[in-house]
Amino acid sequence: MEKLVIIGTGPAGLTAAVYAARANLDPLVIEGFQPGGQLTTTAEIENYPGFPEGIDGTELMALTRKQAERFGSRFKGGEVTEACLTCRPMTLTLTDGETIEAQSIIIATGASAQYLGIESEQKLIGRGVSGCATCDGSFYRDVPVAVVGGGDTAMEDALFLTHFASKVTVIHRRDQFRASPIMADRVQAHPKVEVLWDTVIEEVLDVEKNEVTGLKVRNVKTNEISQLDVTGVFVAIGHKPNTAPFIGQLNTGPTGYLIANSTRTNIEGVFAAGDVQDSVYRQAITAAGTGCAASIEAERYLESMKQD
Ligand code: NDP
Repeated sequence: MEKLVIIGTGPAGLTAAVYAARANLDPLVIEGFQPGGQLTTTAEIENYPGFPEGIDGTELMALTRKQAERFGSRFKGGEVTEACLTCRPMTLTLTDGETIEAQSIIIATGASAQYLGIESEQKLIGRGVSGCATCDGSFYRDVPVAVVGGGDTAMEDALFLTHFASKVTVIHRRDQFRASPIMADRVQAHPKVEVLWDTVIEEVLDVEKNEVTGLKVRNVKTNEISQLDVTGVFVAIGHKPNTAPFIGQLNTGPTGYLIANSTRTNIEGVFAAGDVQDSVYRQAITAAGTGCAASIEAERYLESMKQD
């Protein structure tokens, strides 16, 4: 039986692993479907303390993993598909069918990109519709593309795409960005970027051709419909917490994020860290901070079990 299983390898999971390994908890870390987490789809992290020139997201996660391994953390590929958190010992079933028993668990499964949900968009995911500009942006050289959303992710994606695309149109449903002013200003000042305010996508064209050739868009104030010629559309409208195996066992808030009190969930011995329990800050550094806290809480819990 494992003393501590950490699920997820973003900044929360890996920081928890560094702390837990240094505390001799011999943690087993389940890598998840996106090893390294969301930062591996971000080009440059400019706001992680200690890197005045910025650092590549994938590199930051590779370094943190190395640090966790240095102190003895063990890593296992795959995803958790089922969990019994009320069982004693707790059990986790992985994609390959293996079942792991654990005394304590840190859930650091993060959040995933959301899509608009319209039929034509769903049909063209991977065929011109993308949820990750840093993954797919370089395929769109010298062609027009669109970014949907008005938050920091949309701004970051739009700026990143200017390196490749001939033109980037940002489509936002309101007349004001949600993004931080510095990012919004950079986007609006960029000569390759145009913003379509108060606009929503009605349809991604062309499902018949099985590739993106344009967008049918609607101005929400005038209801005017127009067509925008693009060969790629990058959806940057926020994220959904990855909680599927734990639904019905752990308390969640109205938007589905896990509820944690100082990383402690409603089940003893189960802790939550990072974006899966944070709908407010969602930063790499806050995720790392809660990963540290969860590890300390797990250590205290395991210590208290020994004494009982
Ligand atoms: P946000 O929730 O901040 O923004 C989502 C955007 O998508 C909003 O503008 C929202 O519109 C729009 N939107 C949501 N649903 C729809 C829909 N169905 N149709 C059309 N538009 C929609 O998410 P982000 O991913 O941008 O950012 C998440 C967090 O991560 C934030 O705290 C952000 O600051 C942070 N972040 C920081 C970065 C950095 O510092 N380098 C980089 C990226 C993210 P509306 O405004 O009308 O609600």
